[in-house]
Amino acid sequence: MKTYNSFDVAKQQVYEAAKILHLDDATTELLAKPQREFAFTMPVRLDSGKVAVYEGYRIQYNTARGPAKGGIRFHPDETVDVIRALACWMTWKTAVVDLPLGGGKGGVICNPKDLSDRELEAVSRGYIRAAADFIGTEKDIPAPDVYTNPQTMAWMMDEYETIVRKHSSGILTDKPLQIGGSEGRRDATSRGGVIAVREACKHYHIKPEKFSIQGFGNAGQRCALLHKEILGTGDLIAVSDSKVGLYNPKGIDVSKLVTHKLTTGSLAGFRGAEEIDRDRVLEIETDILYPAALENSINDKNADRIKAGIISELANGPTTPNADLILFEKGVKVIPDILASSGGVIVSYFEMVQDSSSFFWDEEGVNRGLDLKISKGFRSVFNALEENRIHSRLAAMVVGVARVAEACKIRGWV
Ligand code: NAD
Repeated sequence: MKTYNSFDVAKQQVYEAAKILHLDDATTELLAKPQREFAFTMPVRLDSGKVAVYEGYRIQYNTARGPAKGGIRFHPDETVDVIRALACWMTWKTAVVDLPLGGGKGGVICNPKDLSDRELEAVSRGYIRAAADFIGTEKDIPAPDVYTNPQTMAWMMDEYETIVRKHSSGILTDKPLQIGGSEGRRDATSRGGVIAVREACKHYHIKPEKFSIQGFGNAGQRCALLHKEILGTGDLIAVSDSKVGLYNPKGIDVSKLVTHKLTTGSLAGFRGAEEIDRDRVLEIETDILYPAALENSINDKNADRIKAGIISELANGPTTPNADLILFEKGVKVIPDILASSGGVIVSYFEMVQDSSSFFWDEEGVNRGLDLKISKGFRSVFNALEENRIHSRLAAMVVGVARVAEACKIRGWV
């Protein structure tokens, strides 16, 4: 099976957008490379008394529109190219929904499943000690990503404040509510992905009856719970996690499924559906498919077998460029990640605004702001799609890349 380098995929997308926008060579080169990269080692004392030395990264891909923004991922298969790709995608994502932010991303190569809570805290604090000089509310504001969460952010914020000797809650987002987090953040990514589906259904006059989800972590679970609430209709018929797939054409009881996953740590053994192969979930006929796992899940090996009406990409980079073309030819409507999964960074931005004024909004206000930003982003992308007769990812890239290129030009960089 072919392996995909996510950063090659991300660069190819930049080149395609730059071509449509007729960008000059210098601007294209600038946008196809990270602006700044930091790599560091982090010694961490384990519970056994031994010291493990982990590799950590922070990449600020482009800051022409504002400080870098993006998550920190703890993952054993993390590579610098995956982080580059994620930082690159964050740059277009913040631009597509018109936030005054750039794109960044970070990571630590470690397996959180092998670490105790104390060891995870030591990794989180070690990351901030190494990165403290090059992050900051006016430079780069991290957030959680895969295998990091609000608790990780709390440890990281505390370490940062210990270093700078003052309160600095805006240094990271997606913190717990008690220490400067925002209402609505937990649901934001999934809520944004479902709002984008609502807009697409209106645009294409589709009434969705069933939906499927690949990946049942933070994003997948919240999406399962919010889909019917926002669309008013639709049953979850297929779902997977890293171990197993589940299928029930009559609909799966979502709240029982979430409880099962949270109590057992797995989808396996759930009584309300048939267990199937994990990867078959992507191929089951459905109105809406939400990929909510990792990169490159939809590729040229399986794209032809995908029978979804609309794909709303909650995951970052779930579809390879070849798969995009196959899906486009098949008429599958894709809401690309840089729009569909932008709800998280939108509410992160709201959190920064609230922290800077120490004035906090209620959940209704946050959700209303999120809805406005996603709906406006949807219209920009679908206008670009219709103007240029291109597939939706390229349309979203055209919108994001044009805005960042314009900021680089106004600043006199190119
Ligand atoms: P998570 O770690 O909570 O969940 C990931 C889930 O994917 C887990 O259930 C895991 O078992 C499953 N998984 C892994 N490999 C799989 C496979 N091959 N097939 C099926 N399932 C598999 O992570 P998350 O926060 O839910 O993020 C998921 C994706 O959404 C990532 O790409 C992340 O970058 C993206 N994303 C998340 C947010 C957010 O706010 N959580 C924001 C933007 C984008």
